[in-house]
Amino acid sequence: MIYFVGAGPGAPDLITLRGDKLLRQADVIIYAGSLVNPALLDTSKPECELYNSAGMTLEQVIEKMMDAQQKNKTTVRLHTGDPSIYGAIREQMDELDRHGVDYEVVPGVSSMSAAAAALKAEFTLPGVSQSVIVTRAEGRTPVPEREHIASLAAHHATMVIFLSVGLIEKLVTDLLEGGYPADCPAAVVYKASWAEEKIIRTTVSKLTEDVKSEGIKSTALILIGQFLGNEYERSKLYHPDFSHGFRQSPAPQPT
Ligand code: SAH
Repeated sequence: MIYFVGAGPGAPDLITLRGDKLLRQADVIIYAGSLVNPALLDTSKPECELYNSAGMTLEQVIEKMMDAQQKNKTTVRLHTGDPSIYGAIREQMDELDRHGVDYEVVPGVSSMSAAAAALKAEFTLPGVSQSVIVTRAEGRTPVPEREHIASLAAHHATMVIFLSVGLIEKLVTDLLEGGYPADCPAAVVYKASWAEEKIIRTTVSKLTEDVKSEGIKSTALILIGQFLGNEYERSKLYHPDFSHGFRQSPAPQPT
């Protein structure tokens, strides 16, 4: 059996219990070595075969999986964060389907959740933003024209920008062009949940300068929006005047 497992954002205790169990049972682990914390591999069986996919092509990854499958071995394909976000898992799953091989996906804690936790922030603040745009800037990997940063920025929703810290200058130009004010709050979280974690709290116009002066070149998320500001409305859900299926208004006095 083949399991695509989300490793979580970095801290080894942020993998799921299910993912941890599978890592301990695996005969073969193919891990995304550029981002997965190697400490996660310490729990593997002594005889487990370990492959770093950073130096492998899709074809080579599939070959290793097929080889293990033929020998009835359990394979874990370990992806950083949650595998569904920039994980390149679809092409692997399609290849396995083509070969008639079964697999399962085990979700993980995305770095976007770890970044929010590091910032002690809530992405979806009432009266501020009820939408989160997860995106990346266009670099060597193209982004569809209709999703360019400037058009997404026009929504003024919460933005979580992956894979883009190396493209910061152009990113800031596009964010401003899209209509974010220069003083809109912004943050950068480098290596969320790792020992080396760094947090920058800044504004859109100062992003480039701050990223450069901190020397951040990779493994960072850029977060934009008024959710990082101080104004918001309190939630309806916990408001005493608001009834819902689990609570009547006015709230009964606790006894
Ligand atoms: N599937 C992953 C994302 C993989 S793409 C997830 O759910 O998090 C790789 C990009 O994710 C990096 O370039 C960086 O933008 C972001 N990233 C991954 N781990 C990170 C971390 N611990 N802290 C900040 N950003 C991280």
